[in-house]
Amino acid sequence: MLHHRSLMQLHDSLKSGEFSSLELTTHYLNRIKQLDGTLNSIITVSEDIALEQAKEADQRIADGKASALTGLPILHKDIFCTKGIKTSCGSRMLDNFVSPYNAFVVQQCQEAGMVMLGKSNMDEFAMGSSNENSFYGPVHNPWALNNIPGGSSGGSAAAVAARLTPIATGTDTGGSIRQPAALCGITGLKPSYGRVSRYGMIAYASSLDQAGPMAQSAEDCAMLLQTMAGHDPRDSTCSKQKVPDYLASLGESIKGKRIGLPKEYFSEHLDSHIADTIHAVAKQLESLGATLHEVSLPNTCIAPPAYYVLAPAECSANLARFDGVRFGYRCEDPKDLNDLYERSRSEGFGPEVKRRILTGTYVLSSGYYDAYYLKAQAIKQSITEGFLSVFNNNIDCLLTPTAPSTAFPLGNKVDDPIAMYLSDIYTIAVNLAGLPALSMPAGFDHAGLPIGAQLIGPHWSEAMLLNVAHQYQKTTDWHQQIPDFADSINT
Ligand code: GLN
Repeated sequence: MLHHRSLMQLHDSLKSGEFSSLELTTHYLNRIKQLDGTLNSIITVSEDIALEQAKEADQRIADGKASALTGLPILHKDIFCTKGIKTSCGSRMLDNFVSPYNAFVVQQCQEAGMVMLGKSNMDEFAMGSSNENSFYGPVHNPWALNNIPGGSSGGSAAAVAARLTPIATGTDTGGSIRQPAALCGITGLKPSYGRVSRYGMIAYASSLDQAGPMAQSAEDCAMLLQTMAGHDPRDSTCSKQKVPDYLASLGESIKGKRIGLPKEYFSEHLDSHIADTIHAVAKQLESLGATLHEVSLPNTCIAPPAYYVLAPAECSANLARFDGVRFGYRCEDPKDLNDLYERSRSEGFGPEVKRRILTGTYVLSSGYYDAYYLKAQAIKQSITEGFLSVFNNNIDCLLTPTAPSTAFPLGNKVDDPIAMYLSDIYTIAVNLAGLPALSMPAGFDHAGLPIGAQLIGPHWSEAMLLNVAHQYQKTTDWHQQIPDFADSINT
């Protein structure tokens, strides 16, 4: 079955002429038609564009001008601006928005000859951990249809897990690539802050937002990151750091790699099955020649409160642009300008987005700025220093759980924002420190739901993280497990 193959295998098949990009694209479009009614992982299917791009890709392959990604289908999170089709960011506010330009990431994929299948569902403005905050309704986890897929890149994760696309893009401000990757049993990489341009990626918390690949394996993530990464003068925080050859570094032995297990990530609150799974990953890495070391990151538990001050502060400023005047939703028959602003924003934004804007405005207001915002900035700094001191002490990378639980039932935490915020307890600190981190499938719980393991490295160590995950995936098959749902049809 075509959709069981990895991105690399599909590339080889296109190259050898086993099938065309048009055939491959049609295969995935058929799967989307038959299965996405149940999953709701895609907001917009771009069938016409996909068929057009597939034909162009076939021509490019025939002309001998193909790159590694030419002709391969991809789904973009609906946070990336796409010229010609809707970019909603999961919000009623942008339900009518068609961008006049492509995001850097979309443009790079297009130039490489990839085929855009559509735009994936997500929590509104990337705020959420369960994909239940989408204006377009929740996404269902293909491993258990009554459960959440994680968020905010839940549509991308569910679609890759159900093999509706071989690969997808996501964004991660506090865990939105890694947590849904873990809960859907796929591999997802959040690159170092500044590795991938944010141009055309709708801003949530600009100092933390970062785009990355979501795929079956580390190898597939490496292929896409190669195209996503690189300098872009249109994003002033985008780094000029040289982009290494990610695929070339996948062959290296991990013998002698020093892997840190931060004790704060394995407290008594952690589900014992998840703890055992991560320890089994550690043993496997040890058998491949790595050495294990207990380390301490004492500020871990104050990362979520700091994040839930800083991210709302930035979002309250970023989302001020949605005022009913320039783009997006506008209320009917406004009485005057104030009424236009007020009703457009109260009707256009959902409850979680409003909660964040209110929190953000509060922590930035005079009298509270020092008490909340500046304190959170200081915590951010101390968390960064904590990580750096561990890495400066000869630790190559850290191994932790990605999420404190497996996928929970839909509706379980919608009335308890704080419980929902804690879904990111193991991922958030990484964003505060600007580090790269990856989640990879590491096993299943008693209910058959996927468990993810997180690898965290120093700045610009994406190649090393991808290689450690690749070596693990060469000797395990968790990443090749496919939910029964994906094979519930004959195509
Ligand atoms: N779940 C976190 C939040 O709600 C992280 C979101 C993200 O990474 N975009 O803010």
